Amino acid sequence: MSDSHIAEAPASEALFDRAKAIVPGGVNSPVRAFRAVGGTPRFMVRGEGPWMFDADDRRYVDLVCSWGPLILGHAHPEVVAAVQVAAAKGTSFGTPTPGEVELAEEMVARTGVDAIRLVNSGTEATMSAIRLARGFTGRSKIVKFAGCYHGHVDALLAAAGSGVATLALPDSPGVTGASAAETIVVPYNDVAAVEEAFANSPDIAAIITEAAPGNMGVVRPADGFNRALADIAHRHGALLIVDEVMTGFRLSRNGWTGLDPVAADLFTYGKVMGGGLPAAAFGGRAEVMGRLAPAGPVYQAGTLSGNPLACAAGLTTLRLADDAVYARLDATAATIGELATKALAEAGVPHRLSTAGSMFSIFFTDTEVTDYASAKTQDAAAFKAFFHEMLALGVYLPPSAFESWFVSTAIDDEALEIIAAALPAAARAAAAAGQRG
Ligand SMILES: *Cc1c(COP(=O)(O)O)cnc(C)c1O
Repeated sequence: MSDSHIAEAPASEALFDRAKAIVPGGVNSPVRAFRAVGGTPRFMVRGEGPWMFDADDRRYVDLVCSWGPLILGHAHPEVVAAVQVAAAKGTSFGTPTPGEVELAEEMVARTGVDAIRLVNSGTEATMSAIRLARGFTGRSKIVKFAGCYHGHVDALLAAAGSGVATLALPDSPGVTGASAAETIVVPYNDVAAVEEAFANSPDIAAIITEAAPGNMGVVRPADGFNRALADIAHRHGALLIVDEVMTGFRLSRNGWTGLDPVAADLFTYGKVMGGGLPAAAFGGRAEVMGRLAPAGPVYQAGTLSGNPLACAAGLTTLRLADDAVYARLDATAATIGELATKALAEAGVPHRLSTAGSMFSIFFTDTEVTDYASAKTQDAAAFKAFFHEMLALGVYLPPSAFESWFVSTAIDDEALEIIAAALPAAARAAAAAGQRG
């Protein structure tokens, strides 16, 4: 692809130069750096409904939604007001507060878990869930799936999809051999491989899986896959941890497991439940959660956990997220998925639309995608050209082919028209780039 397809962004370029001088790679989370697609990451200064505005005052339809949290779009008036009211009353107390009880009650009502502990990031949630599973079972090993990402927890940074996949780091330096050795990585959607892992190791504390993976692109669990994991884990005295950090409260009032129920012992949440502020959680069966300090011996803590601003944003978002919201997310996702597949088919670009509720990915491949190996058959050059043409035409897609596209209820007819107008040109750019190999 020639660089002429990459739009100019002088103000973002200047900011990126300043950032690179003092922040490693210029970003505070790797995928933001556009390494997989090249060009300059856009520095956003403002969001409103379906739109983001960058430092050059260019407007984009946002199909990333802060990597999932913003199901109601940017700066939803009621969410902003709730945060303002909370901030005016004090930003943090280091004591229990009513807001965290209300948020936990709302989450328990939606998910059916017995108990919830609030933390600040999805990484903390999965790290704590694993510690709890190990503390509960007295065992040490964890089974995870290739291509599933559970945050940057040492033991889980093996074949971890998205940012790591994009950077082509199979593992991360700094993760010790001892830590990695506690993790057994198996192919996604492969029940036999999980059975084999248990046959070979008596010391497995838990299986952890994304409820429906979104971090190698969206890969749908085969029918009954999550339930098979629960059966295997329980037959062997281990726990099942279902990671709903991305899917929770986005795909249904509950999450993916609202659509595809599973008897997991622990669930992790994040993203939507914080309404765009830092909040995450883990929860599950009373018997397991009861082992957490101060009720039990497994230690876990956080200075800012249950922060009043984050709880206000999260609670307001969840209270607004009724059945009509989920129906609208489903319809919008279906519309965009159809528009994209139509444009790519017309341009003759090999592709696969992969969906899990209102999350979806377009894989630039002919191969059916069921796991990380098949996800990696994508044509990176085609995606790169597609991404930059969409960006130039005002649509902000995830800057990696190994990510979900995220919709919000704020996407209106004007936003849809911009997407529909951009897709054919982007598909032609992908076709040209793909042919050049
Ligand atoms: C985003 C994500 C995480 C990590 O959450 P952070 O808040 O970024 O630490 C964990 N699990 C899944 C499935 C995620 O999508």
